[in-house]
Amino acid sequence: MSEYVVDLSGIRKTYKGGVEALKGVNLQVPKGCIYGLLGPNGAGKSTMVKILTTLIRSSGGTGTMLGRPIGDRQVLRRVGLLPEHAQFPDYLTGRQVIEFSAGLQDVPQRETRERTDRLLGLVQMSADQGRKIKTYSKGMKQRIGIAQALVNNPEIVFLDEPTDGVDPAGRKDFREIVKKLRKEGCTVFINTHILSELEPIVDRVAIMSGGEIRGEGVLEDLRSKKSGYLIGFEGSLSSATRQQFESAGFSCEAGSVSIPSTKAEAAQPVLDQLREENLIVTQMHVETQSLEDLFIGMVDGAADSNRATPPKN
Ligand code: ADP
Repeated sequence: MSEYVVDLSGIRKTYKGGVEALKGVNLQVPKGCIYGLLGPNGAGKSTMVKILTTLIRSSGGTGTMLGRPIGDRQVLRRVGLLPEHAQFPDYLTGRQVIEFSAGLQDVPQRETRERTDRLLGLVQMSADQGRKIKTYSKGMKQRIGIAQALVNNPEIVFLDEPTDGVDPAGRKDFREIVKKLRKEGCTVFINTHILSELEPIVDRVAIMSGGEIRGEGVLEDLRSKKSGYLIGFEGSLSSATRQQFESAGFSCEAGSVSIPSTKAEAAQPVLDQLREENLIVTQMHVETQSLEDLFIGMVDGAADSNRATPPKN
């Protein structure tokens, strides 16, 4: 049995009409982590979650979730879902939405009250539980949405674009809730195009665009691949040195050169060469990419390689 809660190999999805939403996705999600699936709109993130939650079938590939083959509906008893743009009846109270969900999930009646109380506490909605949904802010509705997704004590919960339209304070609260879930051992799988919401909390990310995973891993590892020393100087490089640097894979800008290494030793020959040219070194520091830079680099790189050759005139 797979050691991963989600373990997918070569998953494809072609919609009627020929849109290839997923083009052979491999994905492994370790147990108990906060996993971020990042990508621009149209990348295929929701399609991925719909396949995992059995709402649609894949066109090819194999995989398991919680040890069961994907598409197995039995597994849904152990899974929670907050779909994108989830709507709840305006005339119900927050508490009623959670209790209704508990009913749908066959939570025994004697447990429903206690579980609802606990979930309302988790999402900090105890005080507002008796108000109708129509009086709630977007952030409050999302918190009730998360609570109803957890009513069956799931082992993994999918949150599809959970903070779309939620204000910054609401997003901060959301991050705290997700951290509490991880502490309780629940795996949290978040789909989002809002990078800043994930950066402080995710354990692993996959960056998706055009139906493919462009990069995957622990954030720090992904970043370190794209980090390196930036050396600033006064003056201009001779064309011979510039050529030498560029052929060594360094990138040269006016007044700075970046090397793809975070090892100080690797920067020493560059410093020697700059001094040889009588240039004054003004700074040297490691530049770390933000998740946003990383994301844009991967998505743009993919777009470049996918771009068709322009027709000749
Ligand atoms: P994301 O969640 O990353 O925004 P989606 O999974 O919603 O991406 O969509 C991926 C691609 O599949 C897009 O090109 C989208 O237009 C297309 N798509 C999504 N659902 C359908 C559908 N039911 N029928 C046809 N095409 C679809």
